[in-house]
Amino acid sequence: MLNETHAPDLTSWVPSANRPDCDFPLQNLPHGVFRRRGTREAFRGGVAIGDQVLDMAMAHATGIFEGEAARAAHHAGAPALNDLMALGTTSWRALRLALSRALREDGGDAKALRPCLVPQTDVEHTVPSRIGDYTDFYTSIDHARNVMRIVRPDEPISANFQWMPIAYHGRASSIGVSGQSYRRPMGQAMPPGATAPVHGPCARLDYELELGIFVGPGNRQGEPVALADAERHLFGVCLLNDWSARDIQFWELVPLGPFLGKNFCTTISPWIVTMEALAPFRHAWNRAADEPQPLAYLESADNRAQGAIDIRLEAWLDTGKSRAGHAGPTRLSHTSFRHQYWTPAQMLTHHTMGGCNLQSGDLLGSGTISGPGPGEAGAMIELTLAGRKPLVLANGEERGFLQDGDAVTLRGWCEAPGRARIGFGECRGTVLPALAR
Ligand code: MN
Repeated sequence: MLNETHAPDLTSWVPSANRPDCDFPLQNLPHGVFRRRGTREAFRGGVAIGDQVLDMAMAHATGIFEGEAARAAHHAGAPALNDLMALGTTSWRALRLALSRALREDGGDAKALRPCLVPQTDVEHTVPSRIGDYTDFYTSIDHARNVMRIVRPDEPISANFQWMPIAYHGRASSIGVSGQSYRRPMGQAMPPGATAPVHGPCARLDYELELGIFVGPGNRQGEPVALADAERHLFGVCLLNDWSARDIQFWELVPLGPFLGKNFCTTISPWIVTMEALAPFRHAWNRAADEPQPLAYLESADNRAQGAIDIRLEAWLDTGKSRAGHAGPTRLSHTSFRHQYWTPAQMLTHHTMGGCNLQSGDLLGSGTISGPGPGEAGAMIELTLAGRKPLVLANGEERGFLQDGDAVTLRGWCEAPGRARIGFGECRGTVLPALAR
């Protein structure tokens, strides 16, 4: 699966791409949609390189791309990337190879492409595809165990968890891109010990550290995607914050699942790191011998050999006060996606198994990503034991759940010996006071 675009010693004629801590070196080349900030320019597709965005609409117009790469470059410059996602692996590979060669320090095409660069500090982003449908999974066993320990300590995790990737159908309309602010949701909740619910601003606002997975080519309704083919239907990965109103969620959850507790806002990072860029960071996926082994449709040699991906993840919190002072943000947790109980390929296959058709540009949330160790929990409800053990921040403030003015920033990157480090940028969102209605 590895090719010349993954070579760790490749450098670019864009100097910032060669810094060792840069999220967007030549080996990454993630896709997003942007325009110059504060303008009424049309949004168009771009590729991140160093601290710049390569305007793909302009780059395609230079005529330097040929054949399959030119076809993909055309769609990579569109205001939404659905058509690029629909093309499939052969086209994506051709474009990545052409971009890698054109942006290379040796033998690249700086003359043609330099005018197509826009500094990342000067751009704003929008959601990178028209997301027809959004599905949020629940696939971290450490998250499931942590939450059950808090909510129903006498019960094990639900019996189905170890047999299939569980999910609910989410809301696409309220997905926004990093940098956004949103109002604390209003809702109905049953306070502990109360006999009737109350209506008011959410009192237990939380985040969930997740990855977003964009669907590449879709499948026809009634035609499930076999696990052996599932990877070909995955375009790439971004960071995702599934903001959660815990008090609203737990009151409404039974019998039909999450609704207002989840549908008010979801924030994603602007850049989609392609599956091809993630190839050097794949790992074996294991299921311990004393646990249920997957049913045949969720089992494949390839998924065993390299279904897991080692994506390092962090969640940071800064508050109105910490931004005004000198303490700076506090890191709340850190973990890796490689601990996840189910792989993205298994999620996609299970999603389609009943005949559901996925469409290019659809978004799958991985579910909260919590690791096995202390400090690896991907949500505040776990870190604070549902508010009973507040976190102490770097400036001395305490938090059981999120307060107005708080901002959560997710970060992600991949690194491995002998590989170029690649990053995801950041996924940041800020809580505004509720608009009481
Ligand atoms: Mn979630």
